[in-house]
Amino acid sequence: MRSNIHPSDSSEPSTRIPNELLPADGRFGAGPSKVRKEQIEALTALSVSVLGSSHRQEPVKSIMRSIKTGLHSLFTLPAGWEVILGNGGASFFWDAASFGLIRNRSEHLVFGEFSSKFADIVSRAPHLSAPLVLSAVAGDAPSPVVADVDTYCFTHNETSTGVFSSLSRPLGGQDALVVVDATSAAGCIPWACDEVDVYYFSPHKGFGADGGTWLALCSPKALARIAEIRDSKRWCPPSLDLAVSLANSRENQMYNTQSVSTMILLDEQIKWMLGNGGLPWCAQKVNLSSNMLYTWADKHELVSPFVTNRDLRSPVVVTLDFDKVDASALSRILRANGIVDVEPYRKIGRNQLRVSVFPSVDLEDVASLITCIDYVIGRLV
Ligand SMILES: *Cc1c(COP(=O)(O)O)cnc(C)c1O
Repeated sequence: MRSNIHPSDSSEPSTRIPNELLPADGRFGAGPSKVRKEQIEALTALSVSVLGSSHRQEPVKSIMRSIKTGLHSLFTLPAGWEVILGNGGASFFWDAASFGLIRNRSEHLVFGEFSSKFADIVSRAPHLSAPLVLSAVAGDAPSPVVADVDTYCFTHNETSTGVFSSLSRPLGGQDALVVVDATSAAGCIPWACDEVDVYYFSPHKGFGADGGTWLALCSPKALARIAEIRDSKRWCPPSLDLAVSLANSRENQMYNTQSVSTMILLDEQIKWMLGNGGLPWCAQKVNLSSNMLYTWADKHELVSPFVTNRDLRSPVVVTLDFDKVDASALSRILRANGIVDVEPYRKIGRNQLRVSVFPSVDLEDVASLITCIDYVIGRLV
């Protein structure tokens, strides 16, 4: 089936999986993730009219406008919410939030690599009080507590461990902002706008575009906080200044030059999601994919879902532990056969595979992946 074995992986694998078992597309990575061919076609279609033309002129601005309106529809954002874009990706947004969202003290739920990085940034910021950090071991998730903080920092989906966390505003924490890292959840998992003030992500996961950009959906309360901190004259590097980013986004621009190709890929993906039924359709598709994997693993003698609490199992990033099978040998063989990026998060240190099933990943390919894993296991044990 596969026509495009990755060039660097084309050395003869020790185990050759029969062609008819292979998925049509072997990309199951947590990001960068599968880019659909229609996204590339959109890029080609605009290669002369938009690519290589000014980001301050209408052709590019209209794509920015379309992304903003598309996200309003996809997430059914209430009146008063705004979409802000900036360069750097979710990691830069953490820096920006430490300057422009947290007034003095934040609470962080830490249950993996990404949530821990944000907490780390904030704990070293000289202008902020030490944050309240609530941690859980890998594979679990902490619960928020109401505390004397002005910002709650949650992660919708911990990409490093495959743990999903439902989003709800801590009762009694009504004055505080709820700021959510949704990098691998956005476009895959439904959420309620009244539980959240800032929902931020990068476009190279659920949206199958490229890295290097952050997007933040902001409630009126979040916009008021950005204005409040701007008016307080706290020093902030302009490239991380959310008030500057907001002003630019309102003009369908970014503070400095954005990746125009990323904007085209992203816009195309949002339209594809909306055309198929929006977020409910995306969520249903990723649920079917991940359920296929969890159901298979639950029944398998040698495979088990890493996340034992079913309520915390991510519908989009599936982490699987292996018994008696060397998972790194398994992922090496899969890679040599064109099935890529199912290695576990590098620091998790488990005998594990991690499979991401973003909306672009097709159900038939998930089924083929399972067949291929079984085929290789049969040759490894
Ligand atoms: C990938 C990821 C990030 C980092 O995104 P970058 O665009 O590489 O900065 C942050 N948080 C989560 C939850 C992620 O999955």
